[in-house]
Amino acid sequence: MFEYAPAPESASIVDIKPSYGLFIDGQFVDGSGAFKTINPATEEPLAEVALADAGDVDKAVAAARKAFKKWSKLPGKERGKYLFRIARILQERSRELAVLESIDNGKPIKESRDVDLPLVAAHFFYYAGWADKLGYAGFGPDPKPIGVAGQVIPWNFPLLMLAWKIAPALACGNTVVLKPAETTPLTALLFAEICQQADLPPGVVNIVTGAGETGSALVNHPGVDKVAFTGSTEVGRMIARSVAGTNKKVTLELGGKAANIIFEDAPIDQAVEGIVNGIFFNQGHVCCAGSRLLVQESVAEEVLDSLKRRMATLRVGDPLDKNTDIGAINSAEQLSRIRALAEIGESEADRWSPPCELPAKGFWFAPTVFTGVTQAHRIAQEEIFGPVLSVLTFRTPAEAVEKANNTPYGLSAGVWTEKGSRILKIADKLRAGVVWANTFNKFDPTSPFGGYKESGYGREGGRHGLEAYLNV
Ligand code: NAP
Ligand code: MG
Repeated sequence: MFEYAPAPESASIVDIKPSYGLFIDGQFVDGSGAFKTINPATEEPLAEVALADAGDVDKAVAAARKAFKKWSKLPGKERGKYLFRIARILQERSRELAVLESIDNGKPIKESRDVDLPLVAAHFFYYAGWADKLGYAGFGPDPKPIGVAGQVIPWNFPLLMLAWKIAPALACGNTVVLKPAETTPLTALLFAEICQQADLPPGVVNIVTGAGETGSALVNHPGVDKVAFTGSTEVGRMIARSVAGTNKKVTLELGGKAANIIFEDAPIDQAVEGIVNGIFFNQGHVCCAGSRLLVQESVAEEVLDSLKRRMATLRVGDPLDKNTDIGAINSAEQLSRIRALAEIGESEADRWSPPCELPAKGFWFAPTVFTGVTQAHRIAQEEIFGPVLSVLTFRTPAEAVEKANNTPYGLSAGVWTEKGSRILKIADKLRAGVVWANTFNKFDPTSPFGGYKESGYGREGGRHGLEAYLNV
């Protein structure tokens, strides 16, 4: 492999403060305690962040309630102007946000800069456009907002998940209290500054930082009318139980174990790129990652040889380096989860990783592929949420469909074949919310996203995404 000279993006564009408060009613205020967020690539502390307890959450919900009265009455056109303004500021400050995201999350700058940030701005632009057209969205002539939304998001796409939650909520006239993940609070707090810069009325967006208890206090708060959660199936189940019997509306976006299905007539080189993007993109910290490769037996050897050659060229290291393909694992806990499942995998199937030197400090995991995997293996059933691919083979299309659907999840899938008719036939039979054809992990704000079975319920994105934030 060619050696590349280091090409690090300068971190000096972001001004990380020593400490951050909670963002409540348009102001940064103290919490009941504090916690540290670290850089997962170096393990160095980045900042102290305020911890919100139930009392702080209560203040945030009260601020959102108060702001709802005016915000919900504002003509859609006026709400849209605020959202357009936020979208433009996100674009103007995108380099700063991308660098901060890579520092706090560990994802390569290539992805935060070229994938996350453009999608974040696009999401705000898209829902800004809906704000004055809600009467034409198919939910009646004058659909009304729900009220205060309590939103809890994970660490894998901190700012993008914030955009998925906040943009449609505000466009529909709701106000929000959002809790980012404990390990990635910084871009949400910079977003709070952007709300100030955009002169968004106080209380329309509130950000409360903290860990699971803060999230629990938020979703269980009686003043919250709508709960939106993205994260693990385990916590999603708890939330579903706790809101059952209340009037709260809820959307859950949970785990996945997507199949990427390669037929013998697929363009192999493109498919290999798609496999790599499907599972190694964002360190495999992707709920819709193509974590199971289903390859037709007749081309299995060819695909695997080519995949391994490609994996050997992936660069693992400094997230801020523009040449980096795979950054740091987000936290020590996540790294130990990945390691534990990979060890189980090793006792079940054949493990392979390319030779690759991992930095001494920080949380790292080499891209890994398991072959000889069967459906009963835990690595074929459980979400690993890391750069780990399980390979299974099939002979007939029917067998491919059966294996693809054989998990408790159903978030996404991929089909690779030259035949258009086969794409349609297979996509129709896959129990997955999103099916990509001859590509993988492509997102667009106009397209709804969500799962079947244990992957959750409700849809985010597109016109469908409005429904979750309207009384319909
Ligand atoms: P998680 O615990 O479900 O975290 C998601 C969010 O929920 C975080 O903001 C979390 O706070 C918060 N939370 C935790 N317990 C809560 C509770 N009882 N009530 C309300 N909110 C609560 O997920 P995780 O621990 O970060 O990751 C565990 C596994 O979940 C991963 O290995 C992966 O398999 C899966 N996962 C899936 C997605 C996805 O996009 N579908 C995203 C992340 C993780 P803290 O940040 O403090 O935990
Ligand atoms: Mg957690």
